Amino acid sequence: GAKSYSFMIRTKNPFGNVPNQLYLVMDDLADQFGSGTLRLTTRQTFQLHGILKQNLKTVMSTIIKNMGSTLGACGDLNRNVLAPAAPYTTKEYVFAQQTAENVAALLTPQSGFYFDMWVNGEKVGLEDPPEVVKARNDNSHGTNFPDSPEPIYGTQFLPRKFKIAVTVPTDNSVDIFTNDIGVVVISDDNGEPQGFNLYVGGGMGRTHRQETTFPRLSTPLGYVPKEDILYAIKAIVVTQRDNGRRDDRKYSRMKYLVDSWGIEKFRSVVEQFYGKKFEPIRDLPEWEFKSYLGWQKQGDSGWFYGLHVDNGRIGGKMKKTLREVIEKYNLNVRLTPNQNLILCDIRSAWKRPITKALAQGGLLEPKYVDSLNLTAMACPALPLCPLAITEAERGIPDILKRVRAVFEKVGLKYNESVVIRVTGCPNGCARPYMAELGLVGDGPNSYQIWLGGTPNQTTLARTFMNKVKVQELEKVFEPLFYYWKRKRQAKESFGDFTNRMGFEKLQDWVDKWD
Ligand code: SF4
Repeated sequence: GAKSYSFMIRTKNPFGNVPNQLYLVMDDLADQFGSGTLRLTTRQTFQLHGILKQNLKTVMSTIIKNMGSTLGACGDLNRNVLAPAAPYTTKEYVFAQQTAENVAALLTPQSGFYFDMWVNGEKVGLEDPPEVVKARNDNSHGTNFPDSPEPIYGTQFLPRKFKIAVTVPTDNSVDIFTNDIGVVVISDDNGEPQGFNLYVGGGMGRTHRQETTFPRLSTPLGYVPKEDILYAIKAIVVTQRDNGRRDDRKYSRMKYLVDSWGIEKFRSVVEQFYGKKFEPIRDLPEWEFKSYLGWQKQGDSGWFYGLHVDNGRIGGKMKKTLREVIEKYNLNVRLTPNQNLILCDIRSAWKRPITKALAQGGLLEPKYVDSLNLTAMACPALPLCPLAITEAERGIPDILKRVRAVFEKVGLKYNESVVIRVTGCPNGCARPYMAELGLVGDGPNSYQIWLGGTPNQTTLARTFMNKVKVQELEKVFEPLFYYWKRKRQAKESFGDFTNRMGFEKLQDWVDKWD
């Protein structure tokens, strides 16, 4: 037939780093070849939708030649490596971001196929740092396929996609526990990075009506000194490569391996590939969710501005305004794991004109955006995602308005908020199983409701109800928020409240409500 295929392209940007030139190119490509909008993802990358097959090569080569990459953005290998997006200049932040970049380089496919296909074999971009090359090629513990062009992946790659996040203590902007590997920088009393805590086996995806599939928070594995980090990461990846299930994709994420073996056995197998023992995990302070919205100092002489982007979608007037500002002041950009955008390296003298330009472009300061919207996330779902069962991105604006209306009805003030996340299927791309109120599509216009996540993203939610029709959500929201308002302890979050009360009691309130 005459059907023309269209493609989705996803970039790879460790710590959401988008140099000025790359932003401008992505902005152009979205207009010339895409749907006219840029979409920011929950893994700090861009997605371009609606690229026609005949334009694919032009688009890919343009991205690659302008300091971008799509290499390893999809497929059964390591995906984009998350790290805090904020351009703070403290040693810890910079070290976390460098580590994210090195880990990404370590696990990038090595065979020339990608460059052959898209840029006619011309190698572009920077060479990998020597310590990355050394760690990749090291086979002293039998980790590698020494004769393969892919020393770590071989010909089979990994059983499934693989996700890694790096962060610093207290900053949980990256949803650290939802990754296959979580890496946390540990510093001495002078703020000098010394090593890392490692956590393994997190992951969100599950399948409806299959209780043997589940979202899981990662488990502490141990501590490694900083010079060993790439070897430790490689040992974990290789353990999953050799032992993760390949017979059934539903069970092939590393979380199922960690779960079935238990952490003791998992650790001892990883230690054989690592060639050392892990040290005990170091104690950490409490986690906080950081959104970096509004104006903040970087720590050098510069400022950054964190801009809230509803559902990560940049189009229309917003797109035009951002382009003008980013181009005029030559700004670098960062993408956050909450689908927001940070304008970096702003001089004091530019603060006023930039604030004015953003306001004229209709881009509200965070203080004018409903706090529910500031922490909410939805996946793309219909019509873009083939797995979607029901609406998410297109449905969430209305759902948030209805939650706000219920808040008003039961007497909750305007500054009260809960973390709400909506996905169109159980795959969980917007991490709904970490939300205080998670809606997961389980039928046409119906959702499974998950409760019990906490604002700092450290507790796994649990299923509360199934098959709640979208038009009947108030029947659940009203009793829950009514009792939260009346029975909560001082400053108790909705997530903590639902956990303290227990789901039986909550269910009772919902059943008796009218
Ligand atoms: Fe698609 Fe499901 Fe992911 Fe949403 S959660 S983007 S519907 S796979």
